[in-house]
Amino acid sequence: MLPERRRQYLETIGIDLWVKRIRAVSAVAPAAAAAAPEVVAAAPEAAVEWQQLVDEVRRCTLCPLHSTRTQGVLGVGPKRADWLVIGEAPGAEEDRRGEPFVGAAGQLLDAMLRAIGLDRRTNVYIANVLKSRPPNNRDPRPEEVEACLPYLVRQIALLQPKIMLAVGRIAAQNLLGTDAPLGRLRGRVHHFGERQTPLVVTYHPAYLLRTPADKRKAWEDLKFARSVYQQLTQGAADGHRS
Ligand code: SF4
Repeated sequence: MLPERRRQYLETIGIDLWVKRIRAVSAVAPAAAAAAPEVVAAAPEAAVEWQQLVDEVRRCTLCPLHSTRTQGVLGVGPKRADWLVIGEAPGAEEDRRGEPFVGAAGQLLDAMLRAIGLDRRTNVYIANVLKSRPPNNRDPRPEEVEACLPYLVRQIALLQPKIMLAVGRIAAQNLLGTDAPLGRLRGRVHHFGERQTPLVVTYHPAYLLRTPADKRKAWEDLKFARSVYQQLTQGAADGHRS
């Protein structure tokens, strides 16, 4: 990515004080862009399973949230994305539009992703732990997460992402089965599920809109996640060469 464009993205997310350091790391950005996968549609069998998931979430009544939602929100993005971003649950706008991370928080997430060379249209799939909106955006209840998490597990099995980015405390704690504060979960590589997919934790963009001072920490998290991804894909490339 051109340094000037990266600077513009970072200014958008409010990290304009970091230009010098960002320019210093920009040399690795082309590698990230080069490693981005092609947009590949799901294989026919997988397409059937994806459609089943869509239909099941649409009809789902496994927890009480079905009675207050407008619609279930499964997720959005290419079905073979290397990156999977996971948030908490749909908000009011997402519930209306049927897509995760729209509105101001979605725009900030997009800018954050672009700052590390990612684009939700080409190499990032975005989903939530809960597929239905909790009333008044209250925190998900344990029984709701328990009912809904199998949908996400099935999504992950179909996507087979190389890396997961959990945004926000609720997503991180529920995915990792911990009540540790977000600050203790950041800055290290966790693993999720049968495939032990690497998982990195950062702040939710809605939180960052309310607490701009923490955008710097979020930028550190993103750079960390990008370095983890680069190590993973570089390792795979080296393995193929040997
Ligand atoms: S939150 Fe999940 S389990 Fe609950 S109704 Fe929605 S799709 Fe079903």
